[in-house]
Amino acid sequence: MALSVQAVRGMNDLLPADTARWQQAEQVLRDTVASFGYSEVRMPLLEKTNLFSRAIGEVTDVVEKEMYTFEDRSGESLSLRPEGTAGCVRACLEHNLIYNQEQRLWYMGPMFRHERPQKGRYRQFHQLGVEVFGLNGPDIDAEIILLSKTLWDKFGISDNLKLQLNTLGTSEERLAYRQNLVSYLEQHFDDLDEDSKRRTHTNPLRVLDSKDPKTGEILVNAPQLMDFLGAESRAHFDNLRQILESCGVAYEINPRLVRGLDYYNLTVFEWVTDALGAQGTVCGGGRYDGLVAELGGSPTPAVGFGLGLERLILLLTTLEKLHERNAVDIYVVGAGDNAAVEQAKLSLRLRSDLPHARIMNHCGGGNFKKQFRRADKLQAKAAVILGESELATGTLTVKDLHAGDGTQQTLPYAEAVALLKSLL
Ligand code: ATP
Ligand code: MG
Repeated sequence: MALSVQAVRGMNDLLPADTARWQQAEQVLRDTVASFGYSEVRMPLLEKTNLFSRAIGEVTDVVEKEMYTFEDRSGESLSLRPEGTAGCVRACLEHNLIYNQEQRLWYMGPMFRHERPQKGRYRQFHQLGVEVFGLNGPDIDAEIILLSKTLWDKFGISDNLKLQLNTLGTSEERLAYRQNLVSYLEQHFDDLDEDSKRRTHTNPLRVLDSKDPKTGEILVNAPQLMDFLGAESRAHFDNLRQILESCGVAYEINPRLVRGLDYYNLTVFEWVTDALGAQGTVCGGGRYDGLVAELGGSPTPAVGFGLGLERLILLLTTLEKLHERNAVDIYVVGAGDNAAVEQAKLSLRLRSDLPHARIMNHCGGGNFKKQFRRADKLQAKAAVILGESELATGTLTVKDLHAGDGTQQTLPYAEAVALLKSLL
């Protein structure tokens, strides 16, 4: 018996019923980023491994334990991209897109992380990423948050997503805070979870987003980064809040929100839902002013977010915001000796005269009953019949399949096309 091969764990096939829903969601995403004037970039799925370890940080979950890394045939270490920001910055530097220029960019595609698969968490997943370069004010931070809010409005899910906001200050401010935080954590060291113990000395800010309940209790009284911010960082945060409030965007300040990747400073945010269980973060982002220089460019302010498409589509499906959609509007059926030739010709002609219709030509012959069964199964709106008598008289018979009463009319070609148009 042949060995049956299955997909890699955590990597999903999207079947026709899924792609119909995905395409609806993707269309809204594309239309919305375009409506804000953003341009698309497409990067390779593979990059050199050191791009990610430099950009994301050595002591992060993603780099420590989640990357798909391998040596290619020439012995070079490559990794499947676990996120898009690093590759986007790399591409912009390589093609000189950001030196002294502003860029508002987006991309959409698969990302890869070796995590434990569960609802809303997969090993191949998809993100919409938005990245802006060359602007350092709170106005652009607000813009990308407003862009994400516009998405929820268009999908009709604003009531199900809450915005969490925090500021991480500058690296100098974080350094002062870090020392205070470390000495506080050291006082409670024995009660911390294992990951947090390790991170206390490698990456103490990450202890703040520990999900461990006991660590959580300890953090209640930990020093707050907000108290270590200078006037400029405070003003940036206050101005951002003012724009959001003026635009009617509600938010909650979450001082423990630090995000999983090392490159963030000042603004960080997440959009969270409680409709998906544990995997509640649908979209997260922030400012990363140090990254472009870290990757060899000249210092360039930058801000962006990543939106998880699987979680978004799970949420939209749970809330019944996507409609079922069949694939066919018009089904062409026929009979007679020359049916295959005539149906193929007619279908082409109809597709050129009805460019927005989805027209499927029946293949494989059989009687009309069988052919109409196919049309019904596909939930086509109309059938076009090309039988012996239609061929002989140069007409077409159009049957309205949704009328339910079997209504059909035999008409000259142009009138048949007009009738089909009215049925679509
Ligand atoms: P989480 O805390 O859920 O692991 P994260 O902080 O690792 O998320 P980011 O790196 O900020 O996630 O990625 C942005 C978005 O991409 C997330 O908010 C989420 O919607 C989605 N995402 C991240 N990892 C996965 C995954 N393994 N499977 C599905 N979606 C994911
Ligand atoms: Mg993660």
